[in-house]
Amino acid sequence: MDFIWLLWILHVSSALEEILLDTTTATSEIGWTSYPSSGWDEVSVLDDKKQLIRTFEVCNINTPNQNNWLRTAFIYRRGAQRVHVRIKFSVRDCASMPNIVSSSCKETFTLYYYEANSDDATDSSPAWQEGPWQKVDTIAADESFSKVDSAGKILKINVKVRSFGPLSKQGFYLAFQDSGACMSLIAVQVFFHKCPAVIRNFASFPETYAGGESTSLVETLGACISNAEEDGSMVKLHCNGEGEWMVAVSQCMCRAGHEPVGDSVCKACTVGTFKISSGSQKCIHCPGHSRTTSVGSKKCDCQNGFYRTSSDSPDSPCTSPPSAPRDLSYEISGSSAVLKWRLPRDLGGREDILFNVICKVCAPEAGICARCSEGLQYEPRPIGLTETRVQVSGLLARVHYTFEIQAVNLVTELSQYSPASASINVSTSQSAPSAVPMMHQVSRTTTSITLSWPQPDQPNGLILDYELRYFDKAESEDNSFVLSSETNMATVKNLIPGKIYAFQVRARTSIGYGPYSGKMYFQTLLEGERTGTAQDRLPLIVGSALGGLAFVVFAVIIIIAIVFKSRRRETPYTDRLQRYIASRGMGVKYYIDPSTYEDPNEAIREFAKEIDVSCVNIEEVIGAGEFGEVCRGRLKLPNKREFTVAIKTLKSGYTDIQRRDFLSEASIMGQFDHPNVIHLEGVVTKSRPVMIVTEFMENGSLDSFLRQNEGQFSVIQLVGMLRGIASGMKYLAEMSYVHRDLAARNILVNSNLVCKVSDFGLSRFLEDEASNPTYTSALGGKIPIRWTAPEAIQYRKFTSASDVWSYGIVMWEVMSYGERPYWDMTNQDVINAIEQDYRLPPPPDCPSVLHLLMLDCWLKERGQRPKFEQIVNTLDKMIRNPAGLKSMGSPSNRPTLQLLSNSPPDFSTLTNVSDWLDAIKMGRYKENFSQAGMNTFELVSRMTLEDIQHIGVVLVGHQKKILNSIQLMRVHLNQLEPVEV
Ligand code: AMP
Repeated sequence: MDFIWLLWILHVSSALEEILLDTTTATSEIGWTSYPSSGWDEVSVLDDKKQLIRTFEVCNINTPNQNNWLRTAFIYRRGAQRVHVRIKFSVRDCASMPNIVSSSCKETFTLYYYEANSDDATDSSPAWQEGPWQKVDTIAADESFSKVDSAGKILKINVKVRSFGPLSKQGFYLAFQDSGACMSLIAVQVFFHKCPAVIRNFASFPETYAGGESTSLVETLGACISNAEEDGSMVKLHCNGEGEWMVAVSQCMCRAGHEPVGDSVCKACTVGTFKISSGSQKCIHCPGHSRTTSVGSKKCDCQNGFYRTSSDSPDSPCTSPPSAPRDLSYEISGSSAVLKWRLPRDLGGREDILFNVICKVCAPEAGICARCSEGLQYEPRPIGLTETRVQVSGLLARVHYTFEIQAVNLVTELSQYSPASASINVSTSQSAPSAVPMMHQVSRTTTSITLSWPQPDQPNGLILDYELRYFDKAESEDNSFVLSSETNMATVKNLIPGKIYAFQVRARTSIGYGPYSGKMYFQTLLEGERTGTAQDRLPLIVGSALGGLAFVVFAVIIIIAIVFKSRRRETPYTDRLQRYIASRGMGVKYYIDPSTYEDPNEAIREFAKEIDVSCVNIEEVIGAGEFGEVCRGRLKLPNKREFTVAIKTLKSGYTDIQRRDFLSEASIMGQFDHPNVIHLEGVVTKSRPVMIVTEFMENGSLDSFLRQNEGQFSVIQLVGMLRGIASGMKYLAEMSYVHRDLAARNILVNSNLVCKVSDFGLSRFLEDEASNPTYTSALGGKIPIRWTAPEAIQYRKFTSASDVWSYGIVMWEVMSYGERPYWDMTNQDVINAIEQDYRLPPPPDCPSVLHLLMLDCWLKERGQRPKFEQIVNTLDKMIRNPAGLKSMGSPSNRPTLQLLSNSPPDFSTLTNVSDWLDAIKMGRYKENFSQAGMNTFELVSRMTLEDIQHIGVVLVGHQKKILNSIQLMRVHLNQLEPVEV
């Protein structure tokens, strides 16, 4: 009720009247029906303006009981619900009339209406009485309107409005009942109210008829004007009984990109301005570094090079990545460096600046840099630094580090450019190795103790040997003995039974000795005491330099080892473990074949870290491996930064053997730690699917990467890749690991073009056979013929030398951007061709030195092939001296093999050194020989290997070839027997 009252108070609009009947201007007969005929009369009179008008009069005041009815014509309702009748009339004042029966004189009349669907009233119907007729009101004259007419009579001119409704039929009649007045109906207007069509509050409302009651409020829904929208609820106005619109209860609002003008127009924002949401606000100018290109913009887009993060509000200014940190400097002390810098000049308009530290180790002469391996500690952290300093500890001696400080903010990753950074070179000086952290007893007798120890945390160079110092605890330290050991294990002999000895050890590099370890005490067995008890393995007293904590850790390790030992005393595993642990510390590591473990799970536990599956988030399948899908994903280890990894999965329904084979790759990979060998993060074996998680290599496998980027790299870049592969293989060969499937498809490439050896699925452990580890496959299996050395194909002689052969093929694949070795020749044709000394020709644009190196790798005699170490050195020289890479071999696009000429030359037909070199296909060294003055067979025949190296024959295969031929030359010149070289 209050609400409606309020609406009434607040009504605002001028109403419209629609006329249904109007006698005001009628001049001809109106023709309404009167009853009885002695009652109402239609007369023409002149009004006060002397205009002729039609009126109805009655004045039977002297006859009592008057009942005179005047009925209008049928009035169509035309949709009106409530009708208003404005009646202009005059009534003679009874008092002003003498001689009348005052009791029958009236000054009122009564208004009626009768609803009908058609104009079917007759003289007698509806009956002239209330009942069929609905009474509207008895209308009295108002004295205030009294006036005297021309005849001196006092008239009361009145205008009264009465209304009635609601109406429902097609139309109605009105009736005026006179009961004895002297009066005149001057004019009658019948009308209804309607609210006009309007635009109000950004909505348009149609014309609306007022309701049937005087208090009715007719609800009308509005439609939002163009570029406006509803504010959650429907927009309504109410039309009241007077035909007036009441204040809207809700409203439309100008949409985003449009601003209000008055309350009836939404105008598009001009170029350079925007409005972010709908509402009554105005368009505003674009914030910094943003713009619009069309009218009606809801937001401003960032200018090139400027960005908003997803958390920046769309009306905030656009920002850019920061410029580089300034004034980067460092202070070095011992094995730590403190790097400091100043904030970038341009923060990009943001406050959220962070810094990342990237460490590289560079070989300046070779121009090669690699990421620093793990082992450096950063205080507070390497990534996401908020402060402008970082302390890096654990630096190795004599290493050229390059530290790059990247400035980043939240929009850096949106930019296509790498973060701006400042770099500084930090070269550490030489320092001796750090102390050996602990020792433990491997075994003891009554007169000897065998100890082993790990490598110092910071070897700071290659450890040449260790010095073990020991003395009888009961005697003075001055009476100590020393013993040198090239490994991290030593047996001290000639001791006295049952005595306690103190031991200390220190490591030596080319710089000298590091500090001695803390003293540890071990006791020889008493005469008659049994060897190998659990107790034997505990050190007796821990020296002062080793804290209590180290002792606890050490004791726990030893106890675990004892438990192992007691459980598995007889298995070869313990020996292997021992050998592995022992070898770990001394820089000479052996690869251990996981298939020699009785329980393959033990190998997994030993070499691969178990990762909780909740740390792994698989994102996308990127390839298919032998055992299941290979995916890209993210690894988030506790307290570590999340990073991208590759995840190999084992498909469901696997057999035990498949699981073992699948995981054996992880057991192998987990033993390696080299920048050019794919790094194992760990395995998931305690949930399904079983997974192997490795570092992620963005560019996938090398063969397809090269094919996709044919011709895109410089020769130096390709040689850099080859150098990486050779370095990884050198490491594997040093670990006595024979890959057996070295091929470009098994090399992975990361985003920095670093190549890493992968795919250890086919690999097999090598027994250490003299210095040349050899593996003969007992199982057979498939062999990748095109990549495999002849001796490995023929009698399964897989060695690091056969890996070198495969490496030569990889070189050829790289230099030919992923061409298939031996093109479409059949495997049998390849085997035959190799047997007949045919070899792959240089790929197009391949520098001859590289092809010569390939040919060296493909020497039939495996002992003559270069070792990986030599290959690395040769490639390093090439990288240092790129001019040597300019000379190309004869261009060869044609798939034809080259015949190697190995048959000895006939010296009797040769006249000079130059011819001889041509005959042995070493013509490229003619200049080297002539510059060295080696112009005669006589002089040449006296040359040694050193002389040959000295005149610039770098490749080992060539040195050997020339030396072999010189021997024949000697035979020819002196008729001597050939001698062994
Ligand atoms: P594999 O089973 O090792 O031969 O892997 C099958 C395919 O998965 C390879 O050819 C690569 O394309 C891809 N892949 C394997 N390991 C990785 C990795 N660490 N990073 C990126 N892609 C990988």
